[in-house]
Amino acid sequence: MEFSEFADRAAAVEAASADTEITHLVADLFEAADDDLSIVARYVQGRVLPGHDETTLNVGPNNCYAAIARAAGQNVDADDVEATVADLGDVGDVAAAYDFGTQRGLSAFGTGDEESLTVGGVHAELETLANASGPGSTDEKVTILFGLFNRCSSTEARYLARLVLSEMRIGVGAGTVRDAIIEAFDVSAEAVERALQVSNDYGLVAETARDDPDRLDEISLEIGRPVQAMLAQAGTAGDALSAWGETVVETKYDGARVQIHVDDGVDIYSRNMEDVTDPLPDVVETVEEAIDVPAILDGEVLAIDESGDPLPFQEVLRRFRRKHDIEQASAAVDLDLVVFDCLHADGDDLIDEPLCDRRDRLERIWDGHLADFSLAAEPETIARLEDEALDAGHEGIMLKDPDSAYTPGRRGKNWLKRKPDVETLDLVVTGAEWGEGRRASFLGSYELSVHTPNGFETVGKVATGITDEELKRLSALVEPKIRSEDGRTVDVEPSVVFEVGYEEIQHSPTYSSGYALRFPRFIGVREDLNAEDADTLDRVERLVDA
Ligand code: ATP
Repeated sequence: MEFSEFADRAAAVEAASADTEITHLVADLFEAADDDLSIVARYVQGRVLPGHDETTLNVGPNNCYAAIARAAGQNVDADDVEATVADLGDVGDVAAAYDFGTQRGLSAFGTGDEESLTVGGVHAELETLANASGPGSTDEKVTILFGLFNRCSSTEARYLARLVLSEMRIGVGAGTVRDAIIEAFDVSAEAVERALQVSNDYGLVAETARDDPDRLDEISLEIGRPVQAMLAQAGTAGDALSAWGETVVETKYDGARVQIHVDDGVDIYSRNMEDVTDPLPDVVETVEEAIDVPAILDGEVLAIDESGDPLPFQEVLRRFRRKHDIEQASAAVDLDLVVFDCLHADGDDLIDEPLCDRRDRLERIWDGHLADFSLAAEPETIARLEDEALDAGHEGIMLKDPDSAYTPGRRGKNWLKRKPDVETLDLVVTGAEWGEGRRASFLGSYELSVHTPNGFETVGKVATGITDEELKRLSALVEPKIRSEDGRTVDVEPSVVFEVGYEEIQHSPTYSSGYALRFPRFIGVREDLNAEDADTLDRVERLVDA
C-alpha cells in the first residue's frame, strides 16, 4: 500500500465522528492493505511494533522535531518546531504545515528523490531506526526520520509524525481495531476477541482472520509473549456476596504488577507489558528458586523493609525505572514477589479455568510467596480479612469470583478492589450538557477543569453520583453561568467547584490538561471555594507521578 493511501484513509477516519463509521473506514483500510495488513493494524493505533516486541523506536519529541526542522529547510530549527507544536498543540499539524513536498529535489543529500513512500518502505526504515543503538544512534535516527519526512506530502507528514511519537489521534483504539477485523473479514467476534486476549498481537490476529479464520482458535498463550493484565473495578463486600454468594478474598498488595514468564529463563513484564527483567535481578533469582516448570504467573512486586513490612509503592517504581546501577539499587531496597494467579503451567493454558482451580495449580507449582487467599460467605468475615490486611500495612483487599476465568486486559466485574483511602479533587465546572428524557430540562453532565497559571484545562466529565434532587439544585447553580450554547452542550463561566471522587488519573489526549479522571463521581459542591481555589494541574501531575 502506498503510504499516501494510508495517510488519506487515516485522515478520513479522523474526520469521521460516529463510531460505526470509524469502524467501517478502518475495515475498508484493512481490506485494502494486502501484504501490509499486520503493519496497518498497528499503525492505526499509533504502534509501530507488536506489543510483545521489546524493541521500541526510542525517538523522543526532540529528535522528531530535529528531523522535521531539517526537512523543513534552512530557516527552521528544532526550537522553532517545538514552539509551533506548543502553539498548535499537535506535532502532526505542525509537520503537515511545513509542506515538505516543496523541498523535494532540493536536498543536498539526494534523499529527496521522487519515489513515493509505501507502508512497507516506511516500516522498513522505522525498523532500522528502532534497531539503531550505541554511539551515534541518535544522529542515525534523526537522519532516517529526516529522509522519510523529506519524501512526505503534507498529509503523509501529519501521520508519520504522530506515528513516530505514538499518538495517532484518529480515534482508533484497540476496540475499533477488533471490530474492524470482525467486519472486514466476516469472522466470529468471539474468536477474534479471544485470539487478541491471548496474543496481544493485532497484526497476527488480523492476518489470521483474513487468511485462515479457522486457525484463530489455535492462537494461544506463548511463554515470552506477555498478555494484558486482568484488571479490577472498585466494589464492596455486598457487591461480591450478592453476585457470587461465596467470594475469594485476597490481600491487595501495594506494589507494581508483574507478569512472570518462566521457561529456560525468566522474563518479567510490567503492567504495560514492558520487559523489566533487567532491573529486577533479585526477583529473577526468587523465581528461579521457587518454580521448576514452564509457567506464566501474575503477581505484585513489593518493596519491603528489613522486617519484611511493606514500604510505599514509589520505592518499587524507582527500581522499575532504574536502568543503571542495578546492583546498587538492589542493595538499597529489598523486593518481595507475591504471586496471585497462574495463566499457564507446564504445558497447560489455564486462563479459561475457574480461579479456584488456577489457584490449586499455582499452589502445586509455586514454592514462593503466595498471596493470602480465603473463601468467605459472610460480610463479617470479609470485614475481618480487610482489617487484617490493613493492619499488616497493605492497601486493602481484592474480592474475586471463585468461578471466573482469567480475562486479559478486561476491567470486568469478576475482580473487585476495596481500598479505603480514596482521593478526591476539587474541580471547576467549565461546561455542561443538557440531559435527555426526563432529565432534558436539567444540565446532566458537567465538564470539569483544573486551575493552571494560564486559565482552566479540562480533566473529565461527571454525571455519576448525582441524584435527581441534586440535579435540580446543580442545574439552578450552573445555569446562570452559561456563556454560550451549541446544541446540547453549553460553555460555562468557571465559578462552581465540585468535589469529585475518582479511581485513577490517566494521561489522555481527550482533555486539554492531558489527563483524564477514570470513573469520576460527584461527591458535593464546594460552596466554600472559588474557581481559583480549585485543584491545580500541578497537583494532578503530582498525583499521577505518586
Ligand atoms: P490500583 O491503583 O488500585 O492498584 P490499577 O489500575 O493498577 O489499580 P486494578 O486492576 O484496578 O489496577 O487494581 C488491581 C491492582 O491491584 C492490580 O493491577 C495489581 O497491581 C494490584 N494487586 C495487588 N494485590 C492483588 C491481588 N491479590 N490480586 C490482583 N491484583 C492485585
